[in-house]
Amino acid sequence: MQVVILGSGSPLPDPNRAGPSTLVRTSAGDFLIDAGRGVLLRMSAAMAGPGGLASVLLTHLHSDHITDLNDLITMRWAMSFAPNPLRVVGPVGTAEVVAATEAMLATDIGYRLAHHDDLNWNPDTVVDEVSEGVVFEQGEVRITAAPTDHAPVHPTVAFRIDDGEASVVLAGDTIPCEGLDRLAGGADVLVHTVVRKDQIEAIGLPRLVDVLDYHSDVAQAADTAARAGVRTLVLTHMVPAPAPGAEQEWIDQASPVFGGEILVAADLMTIEVGPVAQ
Ligand SMILES: [Zn+2]
Repeated sequence: MQVVILGSGSPLPDPNRAGPSTLVRTSAGDFLIDAGRGVLLRMSAAMAGPGGLASVLLTHLHSDHITDLNDLITMRWAMSFAPNPLRVVGPVGTAEVVAATEAMLATDIGYRLAHHDDLNWNPDTVVDEVSEGVVFEQGEVRITAAPTDHAPVHPTVAFRIDDGEASVVLAGDTIPCEGLDRLAGGADVLVHTVVRKDQIEAIGLPRLVDVLDYHSDVAQAADTAARAGVRTLVLTHMVPAPAPGAEQEWIDQASPVFGGEILVAADLMTIEVGPVAQ
């Protein structure tokens, strides 16, 4: 199994970091977790296309995690030569957001249907709203969801993808919580969004300070990784984003708490997971 960090950014525009999204390539196909700003650009760099995704998994419905869902829906439809429904798995509320996205696209859909004789079906999206338990199972691959705590954003979920002996957990945005602990136990890799408490407090802007109460800071994410006994912690969605060369500061905040491998995500960072890579 392979984990490709497509976007390591946050809501804040960054020339080097696309919005939050991760591609997990498994023996049952490619799964996209969240669809932040620029996701299709980064997918193309990773040699992945919208038509080939097995499913899209949304951790929550904050705009930075779904900004380019509309691009995904459009291009999966417009680049396919036969109906190719897109399965979207997410928390309660996902169906409403997807329906609204498709409604927003109605004008464009009309243009393209009128223009292309060989395109005579609408975008087709199948939504599964989930909160807990197995959400996909095929061959060696099993995907499990569990609730997280990103209040007042609610509900939110994390996903665990097991492929044979390999496992990765995508935490999304959350403070430390029982649901994530349960999901992450014994996983190979934990991809966790993080913020820097010290830097945000030093900046002191109220709207930025607000984000502290519903995200994990670096030490909290490291503590979750330690409790779960994961092998590798990947820090992503960093706020504020580290300047090039400053990544070690983030590792230094995590390493006193977590003794495993710590990676600071960059766009298109690729992590091999499981026995094949060892
Ligand atoms: Zn969020």
